[in-house]
Amino acid sequence: MQDLFQKAESNLQKFWGFESFRPGQDEVVRSVFEGNDTLVLFPTGGGKSLCYQVPATVFEGLTLVISPLVALMQDQVQALKAKGISATFINSTIPPFEVEQRLVNARNGMYKLLYCAPERLKTTLWEAELPNLNIDLVAIDEAHCISEWGHDFRPSYRDIRPSLERIADEVRWIALTATATPEVQKDIKSALGFEEPKVISQGFSRPNLKWWVVNSPKKKQKLTEAVQKGASQGDGLIYGGTRKNCENLADRFSSLGIKTEAYHAGIEPEKRKAIQQRWISGKTPLVAATNAFGMGIDKPDCRYVIHEEMPYSLEAYYQEAGRAGRDGKESFPILLYRESDYQKAYDRLEESYPTLDELNYVYQILCDSFNLALGSEMERAQNFEVKQIMKRGKLSYGKVRSAMRLLDQFDVISMQQDMKASVELQFTIGSKSLKSFREDISNAEKAEFIDKLERIFGPSAFYERTQAEVDYVLEKLGIRRNALIKALNVLMQNDQILLFEIHEQRDLVRVLEARSKKLPFTKNEIESHRKNLFRKLERMHGFVLTETCREVYLRNYFGDSNAEPCGHCDNCLRSKKSHSADFTSEDASRVLANLKTSAYTAGELSQVTGLKKDTVIQAIQFLIKEEKVKSVPSDPGKYSAS
Ligand code: ADP
Ligand code: MG
Repeated sequence: MQDLFQKAESNLQKFWGFESFRPGQDEVVRSVFEGNDTLVLFPTGGGKSLCYQVPATVFEGLTLVISPLVALMQDQVQALKAKGISATFINSTIPPFEVEQRLVNARNGMYKLLYCAPERLKTTLWEAELPNLNIDLVAIDEAHCISEWGHDFRPSYRDIRPSLERIADEVRWIALTATATPEVQKDIKSALGFEEPKVISQGFSRPNLKWWVVNSPKKKQKLTEAVQKGASQGDGLIYGGTRKNCENLADRFSSLGIKTEAYHAGIEPEKRKAIQQRWISGKTPLVAATNAFGMGIDKPDCRYVIHEEMPYSLEAYYQEAGRAGRDGKESFPILLYRESDYQKAYDRLEESYPTLDELNYVYQILCDSFNLALGSEMERAQNFEVKQIMKRGKLSYGKVRSAMRLLDQFDVISMQQDMKASVELQFTIGSKSLKSFREDISNAEKAEFIDKLERIFGPSAFYERTQAEVDYVLEKLGIRRNALIKALNVLMQNDQILLFEIHEQRDLVRVLEARSKKLPFTKNEIESHRKNLFRKLERMHGFVLTETCREVYLRNYFGDSNAEPCGHCDNCLRSKKSHSADFTSEDASRVLANLKTSAYTAGELSQVTGLKKDTVIQAIQFLIKEEKVKSVPSDPGKYSAS
């Protein structure tokens, strides 16, 4: 065990160049080696990937990684390959013959890590190949997807354990997530068959964040004030909802002298990357972004994150606002709120949530548009146009999009939006032949080009089609796109040493199962999922309306029950400031007595007790700390006795 851990530490340095594990990571890695079922709760950016990637390099056999993020798999695999760690992935973008090839390679021990989308585990190919694979570790990334109470429920996550039942007891298991409320944690454990798991959490405390909610009808003015204050502290981020709004915000603040760029999925990937880079380096002090801005962007010194609109869940809010202050220095997550916002969000959620009939309808039209007959399957993802579906079904853009999103989430279809342009390449001769071919070339530039290609696409390109992002390839080769295509064409057609294809960025869709008459869901399932989304919105609203410590509210939500008031959020400061806020134990008893009879808001309590509102709030803060009172999740702003 100690040996394994030492090997892990040395691999961390060898492959990643990192000095040491972060606090928590070491504990996780040890737990995996000890053979515990391990549940990891680290915030986004906390370094969850290394918790299974490093052990994967230590184990002899294969580490199977289950991840729902099709778009990120390729990135992850490429990053591992670049470090010299063999890895591959299987998802709906890979055609069946290629899946078969990769599974054969896996059986032959050619990979350390195999990333796989959960719904792929149910295919016959997998079932046949599973007993032949020498799996040491199964890692479930984004494990909250397993729970119906999670913010991103994916029914196919529930089938992971059953699909792997044959190997379940022999392998080690690790599940990882950034946000899991206590009930979601419970679900993860039971769905994965974790009986006595080791739970390792970095906690949800962010002592350097000063949570702030501005509740005012004058949002525009408040936003300007917040940005001006924020900008005096350093760089920041505004989550601006729609693309158009982000563009407007960028113009507005730039004209006020704070250079601001818009960021959303409608901007080309290359440009987006450049915007990120300018923000990270501090050249652009402010970005106005949709929630497309996120994963993989690490800026330690973001001083403020403003939400112009309330997100639909605290999971989303905590994740986005939590981009502030990664370096541990004082930073401000600010949420702007106007009374009508809640109703607006509620209506939008209601409108955008399709009924089962609508889902079925969109599904059938989609299948028609791919000329997919009943009972037949799509082999490969295909180009997809929302407009075409809208026209065929006489549906609005919003309806199509939201139905598609749900179908994707439920693994009926798989969508990949904004895939980056990539080069797919395979050498048609072996590595020795390639070497002698290269040595025979008199043109030094060409020889170097081939040498670099080999390094970029790695050893896997000798036995399978291997993808790399066009951007990445161009950067490594230091040439332009046209030159790359010309050179690759020469190598393919004249020299016949490789095959290649360029895949442009596009929206791709694949229907995952054979077309059926009806979707495999009941009205109840759809309804219960819908209700859960509303419950999450309620809790988000509760965060806005609470008059007690914001950090306590957040941490309670995520299951940290021992949180103490932070002393520096807007609510804590307000109650500190008010002169007459001191409360006596009699006041507290009076408040408690009333809360035992019914749930009240602080305002209502002030009326029934005759105490000042600030006094009431202080008393409630105290009673919450004593665990005698709690906020009512289903009725934001109200409190009741515990
Ligand atoms: P998560 O999946 O928890 O959101 P990631 O695994 O993507 O986080 O890691 C976030 C970042 O932290 C990555 O850039 C990663 O390289 C870096 N990181 C993780 N662990 C360490 C470490 N021990 N030392 C230095 N950097 C680390
Ligand atoms: Mg991650």
